[in-house]
Amino acid sequence: MLGLMMEAPLTITALMRHALSNHADVEIVSVTADAPRHRCTYGDIFRRAGQLAGALADLGMRPGDRVATLAWNDYRHLELYYGVSCSGGVLHTINPRLFEEQIVYIANHAEDRWLFVDPAFLPRIESLRDELPRLERIIVLSDDAHVPATRLSDVVSYEAFIAGTDRDFRWPDLDERTASALCYTSGTTGHPKGVLYEHRSTVLHAFASALPDALHVSMRDALLPVVPMFHANAWGAPYAAVLAGARLVMPGPKLGDAPTLYELIENERVNVALGVPTVWLGLLDWCERERRTMTSLERVVVGGSACPPAVIERFRAVHGASVRHAWGMTEMSPLGTVHVLRPSLEQLPEAERARVEAKQGRAIFGVEMKIVGDDGEALAHDGRTFGVLKVRGPWICREYYKAERASDAHDADGWFATGDVATIDADGYMQITDRSKDVIKSGGEWISSIDLENTAVGHPAVAEAAVVAVPDPKWQERPLLVVVPKAGAEISREEMLAWFEDKVAKWWIPDDVVFVTELPHTATGKISKVVLREQLATLPVGEVERADRR
Ligand code: ADP
Repeated sequence: MLGLMMEAPLTITALMRHALSNHADVEIVSVTADAPRHRCTYGDIFRRAGQLAGALADLGMRPGDRVATLAWNDYRHLELYYGVSCSGGVLHTINPRLFEEQIVYIANHAEDRWLFVDPAFLPRIESLRDELPRLERIIVLSDDAHVPATRLSDVVSYEAFIAGTDRDFRWPDLDERTASALCYTSGTTGHPKGVLYEHRSTVLHAFASALPDALHVSMRDALLPVVPMFHANAWGAPYAAVLAGARLVMPGPKLGDAPTLYELIENERVNVALGVPTVWLGLLDWCERERRTMTSLERVVVGGSACPPAVIERFRAVHGASVRHAWGMTEMSPLGTVHVLRPSLEQLPEAERARVEAKQGRAIFGVEMKIVGDDGEALAHDGRTFGVLKVRGPWICREYYKAERASDAHDADGWFATGDVATIDADGYMQITDRSKDVIKSGGEWISSIDLENTAVGHPAVAEAAVVAVPDPKWQERPLLVVVPKAGAEISREEMLAWFEDKVAKWWIPDDVVFVTELPHTATGKISKVVLREQLATLPVGEVERADRR
């Protein structure tokens, strides 16, 4: 027997309508290329999203057409999120930090018809324009006065583009399974792969991520997404904030600029911020040097790569903020797990608690999770056994966009292999050991590079650290530590290695340390181990000497 409830499609349009009826007056603060502090409301944003949809319709946008952005986090990008998806188009957020060949590949693969671009990126597009034959027009995200001089002829400012359509746009009634947005994974090997989100999956993800034991988003919050809107939809913050009626503070191009982030947090009374560990390490170090504390910050969502316990401790001790360590993937919209301490664990002794807090958290409602061995059989949730992490759920992609062949990450039962190796403990906390391509196998056993990196970053003289495997004739592979010392700090190889003595198993201790001034990062702000391994391979022979530590 079927139930007797009304049919109400779960669409992004419904999120927008809800916000218009219930919190149209809530403020959005943005840093943009043409305004250091722009202020508007959800009401303004959705009215202008309607103008944008009208302008795109005038150009002949058909349902499902892809509209690309190369843009930072600001109110115009938010208008694109809603204006494009709610009018039946697909918003393709391109990561401007990608290599040019990758931008060309994905824009052509997606068959983008229009590109909305931050003024700062226009010169890059100028040089690529001839390789993007499908692109019909380029719209610069500014007013007329801030469009850079260009030799391109098909360029118009965003403000001029939407100005002509000052009328009420009739939003179409969309099926909830309609595609809404497209995001490519950065693809360290092979071509980037497209993840095609839909209205329903996006709304369900927003519901689940706003829950108190997930990201905890409410109308009492002011959210600062430092994670870019081109990185897995800023972890869904632009949808969860609209659902809940939270204020949004958008840092524009200043994502990596500690003084601006600090000033935004303090002046706009931000209480929830989201971003990758590298951003927080930079901000925490800046605050330490400048002797500042972030007085309004309550929760910091840290994900994208493992959050070192030292970061969790510094936020708590110095700034009175608690870290919510989260794990996810572009393929997962992106949220899979969030770390919040179960009430039964709150009384744990401090050291024990810190150990649990380093884990990536428990599955949020909607995400099923298991670890499997080489034979595909599920492994024990005992916090020690590690295996390949598999997931399934309504906001996890079931195949890649326009894939040439079936994905080998998906199995017959609908599980998706994440490419991560993890443990799950009896309380349901998952901990990532490594990406499967980064695991270090020494004498037939695994060493977690993430554990070693977390330990290294706990040293007061270390700004950033990475551990990679180096071939070893006896043990197959051994860990090598690469360290960026903090500005002005001094640390020797011996001191660094001694730091591990009582913190990890003896045979896990790296064989050597290489000191560098900076580490290579990927387009999504993670340490790029592929590039790092290449760089290390060019070191003179003998530079990386190894000692047998077993
Ligand atoms: P990209 O590879 O393009 O940066 P994603 O952001 O989708 O794409 O990367 C997802 C991967 O990032 C995960 O599979 C995992 O390896 C890593 N990751 C994400 N969050 C965490 C975390 N909290 N701890 C450790 N690794 C993480």
